[in-house]
Parts: sequence; C-alpha cells; structure tokens
Amino acid sequence: MTTTDRSDDVTSPFRWRRGRLLDDVDAGATPGFEGGKKAGYAVLAEHGAELSELQERLFAHGRTGGTRRLLLVLQGMDTAGKGGVVRHVVGMVDPQGVRCRGFGRPTAEERDRGFLWRIRRALPGPGLIGVFDRSHYEQVLVVRVDGLEPEAQWRAHYDEINDFEAEVAAAGTTIVKVMLALSPGEQLERLTSRLDRPDKHWKYDPADLHARRQWEDYQAAYQEMLDRTSTDVAPWWVVPADRKWFARLVVGEILLGALREMDLGWPPADFDVAEQRRLLTGG
Ligand code: AMP
Ligand code: MG
Repeated sequence: MTTTDRSDDVTSPFRWRRGRLLDDVDAGATPGFEGGKKAGYAVLAEHGAELSELQERLFAHGRTGGTRRLLLVLQGMDTAGKGGVVRHVVGMVDPQGVRCRGFGRPTAEERDRGFLWRIRRALPGPGLIGVFDRSHYEQVLVVRVDGLEPEAQWRAHYDEINDFEAEVAAAGTTIVKVMLALSPGEQLERLTSRLDRPDKHWKYDPADLHARRQWEDYQAAYQEMLDRTSTDVAPWWVVPADRKWFARLVVGEILLGALREMDLGWPPADFDVAEQRRLLTGG
C-alpha cells in the first residue's frame, strides 16, 4: 500500500463475497501491506490530504444543489475500534461536513416506531458524510443473539434492510459498510487494559462481558448478516482489526475509494467571475 497504489486494488481483498467464512478472516493479519505501524500511519496521513479534498468537493456539491452524500456504517464487537476509526480516519476531514451518530439500546419511543425510524432520521443530508457507530444492523445482531425478538421477526429484517438501503442509495447516498473483525484474544487484551487504566474506565461497560460470552453466536449472526445484506449498492467490507493502525489505514483507503468513485468536480460558479473581479477591484 504505497502512495501510488490505487485504493481499489488494496481494498478489494476486504470486500465481502458470499461464500466466504468469517471464521477464515485472520483478524491479526495485515494483507497487502508490507510495513508496520509507523509506515501504516504515514500512508494514512499522506492520503488524508486527498480524503480531505474529496470531502470538500462533496460538501461544495451539497451547497450548490447537489444531492449526493456518503454513509459510513461501522459494526464490530465491543473494543473493535469503531470510535478510533471515527477519530483517526473520519477525523482527518473538515468536521463541518461530517455527522456522527452512535446507536445504543433504543428508547421505548424508538422501539414503538420500528427499528428504521431512528436510522432514517440520522441519515446524512446532501453533501455530508454520515457515520454510524453501530446501526440498524444491531437488529440482526444483539436482537438475534439476545432473543429480543422472535426469530421470524428478526429474520424479516434482512429484506427490510436491503429494501431500505436500496432506497437510500437511489436517493444519492454512497453506502460504505465496514465490519471491524476482532479476535477474542485481542478483545481480552483491550478489555483488560480498560480495567487497568483509570482513564479508560469510562469506556468499560460490564455488559460487554455478556456479549463476549456469546462470541460464537455473534460470529454466526455476523456471518449471516454479511451474506444476506452485502449488495451491489451497499456492500460490506470486513477489515482485520486486531491492529488498530491497519484497520484505520484500510478504512481510510475504502473511504478514499468511495469518494473517488463519486467523481465529483468543483461546482462551477453561478456568477460572472470576470465581472466580480472587476467589481472587487473597484473598476
Ligand atoms: P456502545 O456502542 O458501547 O455505546 O454500546 C451500545 C449498546 O447498545 C450495545 O450493547 C448494543 O448492542 C446496544 N444496542 C444498539 N442497538 C441496539 C438495538 N437495536 N437493540 C438492542 N440493543 C442495541
Ligand atoms: Mg461500549
């Protein structure tokens, strides 16, 4: 992954393909990248400039009547690094053009209105990058594993989600869905470190242990989620996440690829530039 590599070449191994097994994903691997942490962050920083410029083009597009926008959906087990991706990757672009939203347990009102209600309301407007830290996918993950809905009900969500995303994509949204694949061993390290460090206690949630104990059930839920909801308009990317720097680098490349593919130019002026120049200089 050098500065000359095209992002689609380096990211293609992470695009989910039906028939793959999540169990075969090596969360500790760094496929396609020879260097280590330092080199990884250097490449990410280098690509930050282009990411930032493309985001500004998208923003300018939205400000001049354009309807396109980008939605980044982040899923993964607790401590997988969703927040770190927001901080270190999305954080490289102008925060004015970004809307981040985390999704926790739904309120009573949210439950009453159906699981997509709060999601629809959080979708990015024209020209914006929306980031979901967890999402509507919890409805086929925690809801399935914890038996919060009967099977027939959560099973129906796969088609509901696909229909919803097709509609969102048709309205001008580029959808990028990333699952951060963490190993149970690395999660143990990260949870332990949260306990060891008083500055990390605020991140520790005793409920995370409950999810950790159901690791295999979550793997099965993620496997089916990937197989049922990876579509052409809204593909899943599965990114090895045991090394934070690598996950951040790859998500940066995926975002870059998505923004490049939007192929947005700078909007043309809707005024006479020469005339404005004359007026400005008092001519
Ligand atoms: P965190 O991302 O650490 O703030 O944790 C959010 C918690 O909310 C996680 O335990 C999720 O499983 C839970 N959560 C998110 N969405 C839902 C949902 N639709 N139904 C039930 N629990 C959810
Ligand atoms: Mg948490």
